[in-house]
Amino acid sequence: MSAEPSSGAAAPATTTPPPPPTDETPTRRGIFDPALLDACISCGFCLPVCPTYTLTHDERSSPRGRITLMRALETGRLDDDDPTLQEQASFCLGCRACESVCPAGVQYGHLLEQWRDHQWRGRHVPPIALAARAGVRVTPAITAAGRLRRAARQTGAARPDATAHLMLGCAERALFPTISRSVLRLLPPGVVDVPSGQGCCGALHAHNGASHEAETLAEELGRRMPGTILTTAGGCGAHLASVLGRQRVQELSEFLLAYWSEHPDAEPDLGEIRVDGRRARIGLQESCHLRNGMGVSAPARELIARVADYVELPSAGSCCGSAGTYSVLRPQDSRRVLQTHLDEVEAADLDYLVTVNVVCHRQMIGGLRRSRSRTRAIHLAELLAQAAGRSTPDTRD
Ligand code: SF4
Ligand code: SF4
Repeated sequence: MSAEPSSGAAAPATTTPPPPPTDETPTRRGIFDPALLDACISCGFCLPVCPTYTLTHDERSSPRGRITLMRALETGRLDDDDPTLQEQASFCLGCRACESVCPAGVQYGHLLEQWRDHQWRGRHVPPIALAARAGVRVTPAITAAGRLRRAARQTGAARPDATAHLMLGCAERALFPTISRSVLRLLPPGVVDVPSGQGCCGALHAHNGASHEAETLAEELGRRMPGTILTTAGGCGAHLASVLGRQRVQELSEFLLAYWSEHPDAEPDLGEIRVDGRRARIGLQESCHLRNGMGVSAPARELIARVADYVELPSAGSCCGSAGTYSVLRPQDSRRVLQTHLDEVEAADLDYLVTVNVVCHRQMIGGLRRSRSRTRAIHLAELLAQAAGRSTPDTRD
């Protein structure tokens, strides 16, 4: 890969001027925002944190290599059918770990969305990506699944006096309804409401080559829930924040810490989580989009440490391989990424592994089961509800 001229500054991408047009400047196809695409200075700082580069040690599977591929697509040096372009647009997890270490402020997540918007069209759309886009549009079915599985009861129109409106994510409603019920048990009645008629936030669309629809869905949800939206899923939260603005969105761990700090009387009496007569050993699997998209990392650790012995895993902040639809789209690669995490959990001899995003939760439950681990995955909301004595206690035998 050829090195690009360095600006020598860590200025935000939006303030980096594109190079002046010259006779040598290749024609742009308009696939990417030029300011975003030109921001990369090819320093390579992002390579060590990229899970796919760690797996392959192939430059093409790195953030820098992918940006070079995007530039080749943009200028027509590679065409849409190029197999490396197809492969790398799909192989990337979209975890945005590269953004967190980039000195030039490259907004890789936006570049990836623009890439997939273009690359995943017509016959190039992976069937699973199509299914994901279509599946979350079937909101009556998801709502029915949530009712059947008893997600938090919806409370009618959004109340203007509620501190925040709890968002019921599509996957959470259908698969893990106890998460939303646990949230309500941690706060005094009326602090959060659960507006009815919630649709999809559009995060899965954004990650699967349908950015325009993703934005429309987020805006619709924002209109249905004016004010602060509370989410238990980092992926949904980061997408909503990118469309509605960061100030409109609160993730559960940051919300609870702030609310309990301002209203100490509202904090439930959190007991100790105990297993086999001793204080539990508990680790964390972070959500990439919560950490790298919303900048929220510490609050979950602080809350776990209040109720148990917190054990820091070396890869707690690295992608677990779930990555939206990735575990379905590329199951083998997903499991390769996951294996490091499973090995670390076993080495740490954890009782619980806390998750803060629903697809990570599903990924860790599946991985721990397959590896016959004694460690259980539990969402942060469920753990805290258990510590508050407001859920079914752990009765492992
Ligand atoms: S760290 Fe940023 S500027 Fe450096 S190669 Fe990676 S994306 Fe480009
Ligand atoms: S989003 Fe994640 S997998 Fe994709 S290039 Fe960045 S660090 Fe690598």
